[in-house]
Amino acid sequence: YPCDVIRNFSIIAHIDHGKSTLADRLLELTGTIPTAEKGKNAQFLDKLKVERERGITVKAQTASMFYDYNGKRHLLNLIDTPGHVDFAWEVSRSMAASQGALLLVDASQGVQAQSISVFHIAKERGLKIIPILNKIDLPAAQPELMAAQMESTFGIDPADIIRISAKTGMGVPEILRAVVERIPPPTGSTEEPLKAFLFDSLYDRYRGVISLVNVQSGILRKGDKIQSCHTRKRYEVTEVGLMHPEEIPTQILYPGQVGYVACNMKVSAEAHIGDTLHRVGAPVDSMPGFKAAKAMVFAGVFPVDTRDFPKLEESIKRLTLTDRSVTIQRESSSALGQGARLGFLGTLHMDVFRQRLEDEYDANIIITAPTVPYKIIDRKGVETMISNPTQFPDVTDSGAGLTVQEPVVHASIIAPEDYFGEISELCYEHRADDLEHKYLDAGSAAPDGSARMMITCVIPLSEIVTDFFDQLKSRTSGYASFDYEDAGYRSSNLSKMVFLLNGKPVDALALIVHESQKDKIGRAWVKKLHKVIPRHLFEVPIQAVVGRKVIARETLSAMRADVTAGLYGGHYERKMKHLDNQKEGKKRMKRVGQVDLPQEAFFDILSKK
Ligand code: GDP
Ligand code: MG
Repeated sequence: YPCDVIRNFSIIAHIDHGKSTLADRLLELTGTIPTAEKGKNAQFLDKLKVERERGITVKAQTASMFYDYNGKRHLLNLIDTPGHVDFAWEVSRSMAASQGALLLVDASQGVQAQSISVFHIAKERGLKIIPILNKIDLPAAQPELMAAQMESTFGIDPADIIRISAKTGMGVPEILRAVVERIPPPTGSTEEPLKAFLFDSLYDRYRGVISLVNVQSGILRKGDKIQSCHTRKRYEVTEVGLMHPEEIPTQILYPGQVGYVACNMKVSAEAHIGDTLHRVGAPVDSMPGFKAAKAMVFAGVFPVDTRDFPKLEESIKRLTLTDRSVTIQRESSSALGQGARLGFLGTLHMDVFRQRLEDEYDANIIITAPTVPYKIIDRKGVETMISNPTQFPDVTDSGAGLTVQEPVVHASIIAPEDYFGEISELCYEHRADDLEHKYLDAGSAAPDGSARMMITCVIPLSEIVTDFFDQLKSRTSGYASFDYEDAGYRSSNLSKMVFLLNGKPVDALALIVHESQKDKIGRAWVKKLHKVIPRHLFEVPIQAVVGRKVIARETLSAMRADVTAGLYGGHYERKMKHLDNQKEGKKRMKRVGQVDLPQEAFFDILSKK
């Protein structure tokens, strides 16, 4: 395969604009997969069950296809990318192996928040962009208007825009032609030393770790002795091949090709994303890797039944083989027992992981409230990162001289102008700063007559990891789209809130709260606890405390007497049964001081808002 017949490209778009559907059509049109039955949407590349259920792509998937054009057989390598903000990291690594990108915009919805962010990533990487308007079969499609919008937002010539329906297949053949004609072939010669860029990895139960690579120069053969620039570890290549879309062994990979390599890597961590592989004894300069995925949302995960911990830990380990961006640490809590503290890229990532854990491994789990990583700075300027509220120091004691910084993000929201008031209110409620707005459609009106607006602000990450997106959707009737990017750290008036039962703190329930919100949050949580904790033989005060100050308090009144006392006449059998039930209940109870807390109470508190 000389380079000039190879094209490497990704599909980029806002979520739901049709990437996976288009990927399926391209694979069908090139005969890579059988044509789906009419009306069925196979979404071939969305492999994970949770992806199919939620209709989102979580992990970038790669597929090669053959396409005959101008009398020549071309090898097209497609890299499907996820569309959600949490997975921006997956998007940028897919693009690192491509020379071009299909920018897909839904012709009924127009440019959305992530259309803009993925466009910028592609531009920065110098990719050739092929603009596409999808879903032109929809009655609500406005191709003229949306083409004008793409022109004003991206500076794209409307004449370059391909109009398609990924659903019916209309216009899709033109995309294949455009891929060959407009996207430059990769460069790199067989004469140069081997240099392969590792951009993703899979885990195969039998063969172990499989790396996906883009050969930048040289030839990669079965039997080659290769070495990693990053770890300096050496391997023998046991198999190479194409993803077509399942693995097809080929003996050899040429420059410009995208394919897989199996080389007896034992653990996923050995396949370092962004690494460069070379031949043993022929070192090359490593390619600039990219920013490693950074966990920004942390939560504790505990089994409902504490005896299940080994099973839970095993499940987590197996899942992280296919999702490398989750970080794991052991954690133990006096209230919840042995568990793990996991770090995620964002809240959707956390939800997806939780669902996979529940689906694939049938584990009953409790997940604590999500937190972001905070920076604690002492008088001498020494920084400590804290991502577990229980480890958060008492910063209200001014003698300690500690200051707190929290991560903030640049958020951008696109919505019809009518919702501007609602959106800015929501942002301010969530401690937003530097709010700005501008019109997206240069003078042109949307179908309903209102112009669309882009609102940007700086907002604490902790404010958007809970329910910000859901609220945004509901307050704008689903019309708003949202994206964010890292904007560093800012000083903030935050402190730890602890909950006391009968004077004893419950470690699993500590929260980090902002000065302006502590009263509201304290009252709400104390009320929730009051509802779920069973009554005891004595009175149990429930308190929310910040520093040394009690913010809110409820009192759980005492139960009158022994449970069995009420059973008149003492039907022996009935009494025994009751005691048995009580014993059964005890197993699941956790003691905090003298207060019994059913494990399920935590589940209630933490899973409901
Ligand atoms: P992704 O999130 O970008 O991967 O989007 P999907 O490919 O999963 O598509 C999102 C939804 O839009 C699915 O329900 C598709 O069936 C639908 N869809 C995709 N392309 C078209 C199209 O051309 N026309 C219509 N009417 N629906 C489409
Ligand atoms: Mg998809």
